Amino acid sequence: MIIVKQLFANLAILVALLFLYTQIKKDPPLRMNSTIKKKITTGVAGGLFSNILMQYSIPIGTTLIDLRHIPIILLAYFGGAVPAFIGMFLVIAGRFLIGINISSYTSSLLMLTVTLFAIGISRTNLSQQTKKWSMLTFANLLTSLLFFYLIEDQQLLLYLIPGYWFVSFLSGYVAFQVLHILFKSQMMFDKYKAESTIDPLTGLNNVRKFDEVFNSCMADLEKKKKLSLLYIDIDFFKKINDTYGHSEGDVVLKDLGLILRSCARPTDIVSRNGGEEFTVLLVDSSLDQAKKIAERIRSTVEEHAFLLNSGTEVNITVSIGLSNFPETTPNGNLMIKDADKALYEAKRTGRNKVCTANQ
Ligand code: GH3
Ligand code: MG
Ligand code: MG
Repeated sequence: MIIVKQLFANLAILVALLFLYTQIKKDPPLRMNSTIKKKITTGVAGGLFSNILMQYSIPIGTTLIDLRHIPIILLAYFGGAVPAFIGMFLVIAGRFLIGINISSYTSSLLMLTVTLFAIGISRTNLSQQTKKWSMLTFANLLTSLLFFYLIEDQQLLLYLIPGYWFVSFLSGYVAFQVLHILFKSQMMFDKYKAESTIDPLTGLNNVRKFDEVFNSCMADLEKKKKLSLLYIDIDFFKKINDTYGHSEGDVVLKDLGLILRSCARPTDIVSRNGGEEFTVLLVDSSLDQAKKIAERIRSTVEEHAFLLNSGTEVNITVSIGLSNFPETTPNGNLMIKDADKALYEAKRTGRNKVCTANQ
């Protein structure tokens, strides 16, 4: 019974290691198509985990009983041959460092066979469940054979083998579950993080991301020396909604998002700040450059035929307010206010035009 209890301790150590590793390494989980660097580092980590498990193994004569095969199976299952072989190599090296005897030779041969089998299974089209259970069953079978070969005490074998099967299966199940849960929560976290900065309709940055980037631009304005901001608002957009319906209005907004992206430079920050208002933050751009980009946006929109879902083509225009640090707005913090004022001026003086702040 004491052996089963100690194997449970091995399981607890394994779970703690997996948890710690996935919390420390915040990058995406290991996959078959992960980078080679990721495969190598995860292979090394898995090999180290197996070695740690070996440090807590249960010695029976020269035979060491533990769950060292599980990290290797996990590596083969999630990442294929490269991480599994690296992990296996470290386990074998670690086992020989503990002692060179018949047990270390046979257990290394066992580890090699289990690794090859797990890699082979990982490449098949079997279901995920079948892959997991066949890897674990194969490792248990071979380990049982090894016990028969190395341990002479028949009484001991009588409860060691069923106990080992039970804990090994349970550990494999728990390890896979723990990883699936941790990977899933990590992926959800990444997804929500990305979505929290993106406007779902246009795929542009949302106002939260705009604020974040604008504030970081303010923080290093001294270094950058120049920054321009375009505040863009569709003219008489309410009419589009009233005439064609809200969902057709959305089509126009989406299409306008594409135009803004194509007129701006790749480094510029294009955002939908709300409703039918957009901004383009032109990083490191002079007033002259900003005027050119603003005029390009204005004329492109004016000439573009927006194709609605109904097949109807409509034309719209935009008004743009422009501010620049330091040329129109020496106090960077007033850039948004100044661009907004300039936009109001553009609206007031006829729309479909670009107005520059404080001019
Ligand atoms: P102006 O030239 O003065 O800007 O006129 P306007 O009609 O564009 O201005 P107003 O602010 O009165 O109207 C903006 C309209 O934008 C009102 C609202 O129905 C519409 N709108 C805001 N958000 C959305 C959206 O997500 N989808 C659609 N389809 N319409 C939206
Ligand atoms: Mg508006
Ligand atoms: Mg408008």
